Amino acid sequence: MKKLRNEASLQHGKTQSDLFESLHDDMVIFILCKLSSTASSPSDFIAVLHTCKRLNKLGLHPFVLSKSCSKALAVRAKNWCEEAHKFLKLCVNAGNIEAYYILGMIRFYCLQNRGSGASLMAKAAVKSHAPALYSLALLQFNGSGGLKNDKDLGAGVALCARAACLGHPDSLRELAHCLQDGYGVRRNIAEGHRLLVQANSREFASVLRVLKNKSKHINFDFGLLNDYGFNQASRQMHPVNKFMVEWFGSKENGVPGPGLKMCSYKGCGRPETRINEFRRCSGCGKVNYCSRGCQAHDWRLNHKVECAPIEEWMGHAFDDVEEEVNMNGEDYVMDDRTVEIEEGEVDGIEI
Ligand SMILES: [Zn+2]
Ligand SMILES: [Zn+2]
Repeated sequence: MKKLRNEASLQHGKTQSDLFESLHDDMVIFILCKLSSTASSPSDFIAVLHTCKRLNKLGLHPFVLSKSCSKALAVRAKNWCEEAHKFLKLCVNAGNIEAYYILGMIRFYCLQNRGSGASLMAKAAVKSHAPALYSLALLQFNGSGGLKNDKDLGAGVALCARAACLGHPDSLRELAHCLQDGYGVRRNIAEGHRLLVQANSREFASVLRVLKNKSKHINFDFGLLNDYGFNQASRQMHPVNKFMVEWFGSKENGVPGPGLKMCSYKGCGRPETRINEFRRCSGCGKVNYCSRGCQAHDWRLNHKVECAPIEEWMGHAFDDVEEEVNMNGEDYVMDDRTVEIEEGEVDGIEI
């Protein structure tokens, strides 16, 4: 838009500039909607708002803000300021569901405004926003923002089930483990197993989508997948997870309180809201996870090698082969050492 306007002014003089002025507001709003829904960063959109008074006014039209995509709302933690907060609030007031979720997470975890954060996430969840449903489920499973007794396993399972119906892989995985363990729901090992297979298939499909975007010339080949970093961080992080990783990773903010730990999965960024809230790896006792989803991802990407003594790791060489076969959608068996509830946190669970 800025380029078009500049070109119009430079190449064709005042007459063409007047043509831009003569464009009906509805047409400009339509173009700005397209821009805000496809922007690859907040600056793509904000730069246009700074072009002139008219674009600034129309760019902040509720209809435009309601269409802003997650990348246009992906504020970096280092750039967080009152203006960024105000912009997200405007998007929330315009009814942008993604903004409900992003601002909800930032308020709950980073600004520690638990009530307002959970309420915004709930508004996104009501509109069937799968990551918001999943995040609320984790709040219920962990009793985040409250005491251990505030856990509501049934509510967590219900929220997970709803997000799983929308195809959210982490919710599918969490629900599968709940069914297998009888955690907040009646035990059903076969159904849990079936959902784990589904979760793996969906994750595998999303990995392939990411790889295809990276290179148009990748053929379906496991060897190539390894070459292109299949075992590395291949899942796309939601912008708000990136924000939290940056926020709590900075010297300025750091871990939110004494004795509180971060989720050890690098793609999560959730901190504990009370001491010993998260699950701990029983193999080494050094890492903590907010959820089974994070536990499973970190195990596959990093912790499998870090946790086990090298001689034991060599002894499990055949397990690796089995796991690659399992990624074909047949099965996935997580090492049971990675699934343990912190002592004293067990609520009638058998794992
Ligand atoms: Zn996590
Ligand atoms: Zn470990």
